[in-house]
Amino acid sequence: MKPQKPTQNPEDPRFDPWWRDISIKFIFRRILPFMGKFIKTLAVSVLLAVVLLCVLFSFYDFAEQEKITGKIIARTTRTGLENLGIEDDFNTEEFHWPHLPVTFNYENCSRWQIKRIEKALEYIENRTEVLSFKRADSKEDILFVCSKERKNNGSTLAESLPSIYIGTKLYAPSTIMIYPSYYCINQRPIVEIHEVMHLFGLEHAPANDSKNIMNPYVTRCDAELSQQDIKKIREIYSRQIVTISKSKKEMQKI
Ligand SMILES: [Zn+2]
Repeated sequence: MKPQKPTQNPEDPRFDPWWRDISIKFIFRRILPFMGKFIKTLAVSVLLAVVLLCVLFSFYDFAEQEKITGKIIARTTRTGLENLGIEDDFNTEEFHWPHLPVTFNYENCSRWQIKRIEKALEYIENRTEVLSFKRADSKEDILFVCSKERKNNGSTLAESLPSIYIGTKLYAPSTIMIYPSYYCINQRPIVEIHEVMHLFGLEHAPANDSKNIMNPYVTRCDAELSQQDIKKIREIYSRQIVTISKSKKEMQKI
């Protein structure tokens, strides 16, 4: 005779399903101790990861991730001309364009890039209220060259390559290189404005001055020319209108 088969009715007091025994034993003896260990290990790992990330971030220079808008680069352009030499060694008081409007032209630029250049020049005219620009087909003062190749893995967006006439304090035909980038699309063309203003002697603003268009990095698409820089430019070029005939004489000596 066989013992009575255990009932499978849960309400029967003799109900003793196989899984109850196994699962309780299993949970208490195997899973829980293991889970405890696992949770502890996980918590320690997360904590270590957080500490490591904090340390990494504290040493990380975020500014380097921003894009440089331009550098003044030493360059000798042609006989009779010399460049201003050292990066950022600009002196608004010393050098100036001998005439206004300053003429410009562009090379290899798309319609979109030309529009940005024109918008940049218009911004400068409006803000300074003294500078003016005019397109020229040849012998331009500023040539914008739009490159199809990126520079320094895209960390250089544009460069001003200024020249001066030897023995004078006059700017000579200069170039602005514009490399492919997509900053501030349909907004203020701050890269172009920044580079053009280098050719008027403006140097870089401190990197933490995020509202200043002369910041060496792209910070804000609504960055502006500082009032201080506008004042400097006004002083020089208002004065120049009076001394323009003198400048012409200086030019004739070259
Ligand atoms: Zn610059």
